[in-house]
Amino acid sequence: MLSEHNHPEVSAIVAAHPDDEILWFSSILADAGKVILCFEDVPGNRHWSDGRRASTSQYPLPQLVNIALSEADVFHTIDWSNPVPSAEGLEIPGDSRAGREYADNFRQLVNRLRDELDGCSNIFTHAPWGEYGNAEHIQVFRAVMAAAESSACRVWVPGYVSNATIALMTASEGELGRDVITLPTNQALARDIAALYKANNCWTWYNDYQWPAQESFRAVSTESADDGAVWSVNHIKIAPPVPPRQSPDLIRRLTRKFQRLLNRTEASRGR
Ligand SMILES: [Zn+2]
Repeated sequence: MLSEHNHPEVSAIVAAHPDDEILWFSSILADAGKVILCFEDVPGNRHWSDGRRASTSQYPLPQLVNIALSEADVFHTIDWSNPVPSAEGLEIPGDSRAGREYADNFRQLVNRLRDELDGCSNIFTHAPWGEYGNAEHIQVFRAVMAAAESSACRVWVPGYVSNATIALMTASEGELGRDVITLPTNQALARDIAALYKANNCWTWYNDYQWPAQESFRAVSTESADDGAVWSVNHIKIAPPVPPRQSPDLIRRLTRKFQRLLNRTEASRGR
């Protein structure tokens, strides 16, 4: 079924973190039957965790579904010069607690999304290259695909990419089909919801970010287009997170120690 905007009925948007839904899906946000957010608490970042809880409780759209898993601490573990896809998203280097949490999150997401996406016809979620480069975005894509495996729904992914992920996007071409839709972004709605996240100190993107005029989505397909497809992408220039030279466990221990000290200092100031 096509709506008056000439795009398919939007059964659900599945976004990893609070703010992803306005960064990559603003054009279809108001029309979505469900806006599903997957993660809430951020390890070692009480401000973002509390801010996300406050924001989702004040959220202006009634169709919000907040799964609210705790993030796995994997953001700085990925070497974006050589990301390795896995069934759960990306390979997490080493045998770390973060890697086990990442795998556990995948299982929980698939279970929850099977229920939430039951009966959906068109699902919009993250791209298999994770837009600018985020292992949890890629995990959400894989979880949606696993949850929707036996259904007749169509999955659509947005055309946002960065210099860190362009090779992964090219490697994902075989999973994409021919159908493309291009829509004007809804900048007024995006700015309104961004203001809520900023007021609650949990906006994770550029402070002065300017939304592009339009964005495109491409259908995932098991019958990939042999000759590809013509579609426009929004290319983000980013300095990709540098993987730590020291062991991630050591970095994490030091980060948590610093965060505990910071929290104690702030608690003593009564904030
Ligand atoms: Zn995100």
